[in-house]
Formats: sequence, structure tokens, C-alpha cells
Amino acid sequence: MDFNILVLGSGAAVPTFSRSCSAQLVTLNGVRMLVDCGESTQNKLRQSHQKMQAIRTIFISHLHGDHFFGLPGLLSTMHLCGRTEPVTVYAPKGARESIELLFAVSGTTLRYELNIVDIDVSKPTVIHTDRRLSVKAFPLYHSIETYGFLFEEETPLLNLRPSVRSQYGMTNDQCVAVKNGADLTLDDGTVVPNNLLTYPRRRPRRYAYCCDTAPNDELVSVLQGVDLLCIESTFDDAFTDMAQERCHCTASQAATLAARAGVRQLMLTHFSARYHEMEPLLAEATAIFPNTVCAADGETYSIPYQTL
Ligand SMILES: [Zn+2]
Ligand SMILES: [Zn+2]
Repeated sequence: MDFNILVLGSGAAVPTFSRSCSAQLVTLNGVRMLVDCGESTQNKLRQSHQKMQAIRTIFISHLHGDHFFGLPGLLSTMHLCGRTEPVTVYAPKGARESIELLFAVSGTTLRYELNIVDIDVSKPTVIHTDRRLSVKAFPLYHSIETYGFLFEEETPLLNLRPSVRSQYGMTNDQCVAVKNGADLTLDDGTVVPNNLLTYPRRRPRRYAYCCDTAPNDELVSVLQGVDLLCIESTFDDAFTDMAQERCHCTASQAATLAARAGVRQLMLTHFSARYHEMEPLLAEATAIFPNTVCAADGETYSIPYQTL
């Protein structure tokens, strides 16, 4: 199954012509999940030909406007377009009250069920599960309560090699057992080892989203070995003091964290509106962690399967 991250917004607090405020659509095992919802997210979904009604779950990292102000509009549009399926939003405390107040004063009523769940965790904690995937929230280090998210797939089932089913006359129950790692015992007592029946096991994939945050040693263990780390890089090294003051990362700090955590690939995002070209930030990051990309609005980044 594809594991895709569609970037809907890669800008920081002030949107620009080419970069909207933070939002991503994460698709795993056919499940579409929205991560952050800055202003214009619903327009970006339309421009990317994504069906907003297919989104059942939304994760909000924190309540700064560039990550949150698009949510009331998106929820309202879902209603106006006839939605009846429930929506669950995971967000820091205060999201539910602010949405309820906004809907009350604007006379907005939804025909679908909206569940807003407070995130309140002090260490990586599973807050959501769906089709063979789970999502953990963990604290980030920003100027207000902020969480990162770790999207993890369960260990994939093994795939049968061609024709083994008919060759051994396997029943459905035997196929399920073999896909879960069992050997096959034939009627005459012969045992066929699992590795002759299946392809090598694929490693479960993991995607981490960290936006917004200052660098912190605690993140090294949380992010250890993830396939793709998306972390904010609001500034380049010339603005290290400003980054520290505002609880953000520079490109070098993001790359250092990626290197220490041993991630496979790094994606930088949340770029200050002062940058029109990303080369300086990319150069700073790749000098420390070569396998780095800069997120771009409208681009999809995939995490391929790896065998164990
Ligand atoms: Zn932000
Ligand atoms: Zn912020």
C-alpha cells in the first residue's frame, strides 16, 4: 500500500504566493489523514484534486493560526457539501472551545458528528488507530502547547509466492497463518518452511511530523530511525538567535537532529516568507544530512517499502 505525504502548505506564519500555511495530507493503507490546517487548506485540497469528504481524521499540532485557522472553514465546507460521515479532530486543549464559539456566533450547525479530542500527553502516546496503522503524539518545544505526530504502519502481512496456494492445496486458514509467519504442515506431516512460501518480510514504515519546534535532545530518541522526518526549518543559520527566541529550528539544527536520530530521509518545511529560493537552506542542511529535500506545495513525497 502506498504511504504518501501530499504537502498542501509549506510556508510559515505568513503565506506567500507559492507557499501556503502548514497542512499535509497523509495517506496510508488507503486512510487519508489531514495534518494541520492553515488558512487556504481547503483550496489546496481542491487544487490537488483531493476529496475533502474522504478525510475522517484531522491532527492539529498547535493552535497558532498558521496551523489552525483553516479548520473552521474546512469543517463548514464539509457540511455545506453534504457530509454525513463523522469527523474526528485531535488537537491541543482550546480547539473545541474556539470552534464551538465560532460556530455558535456564526449560526453554523453541522449535519455530521464532529468529535474534537484533546491531546494531552507528556511522552509518545498512541492517540489514534485505524486500518493497520497507528498515530502517536509527542510533545514539541514551541512557544505554546505543541505536539508532533508519528504515523506508523503495523508489520505488513507476508505476501505468498505465486502458485504455492494451488501447489500445496492450501485452505484459506492456512493462507492466513502463512501470511502471519507460520510454516505449513502438509497432510503427510511434511513441514514446508515459511520462507519457501512467502517473499521476504517488509519493514513497517514510519513518518514523523514536527512542526513547530525548537531543537531538543528529547526528540532524538522519539524520532530514532524513522523513514521520513518532516521538521520545520523556519530560518537559515543567519537567524539562529531569532529561531531560538521564537522556538523554531534553523536548517542546520533540523539536519543535526535528523543525523543524530538516524532517520532515512529529511524533509524541511515551514519556511519563513523572507525566503524566495530554498537553495541556501538546503545547502546548510545537506552539508550535515545529505538525504534532505525541501517541501513544496502540491508535491507528494512517498515512503517506499523496505525489506528487513
Ligand atoms: Zn507555524
Ligand atoms: Zn507555531
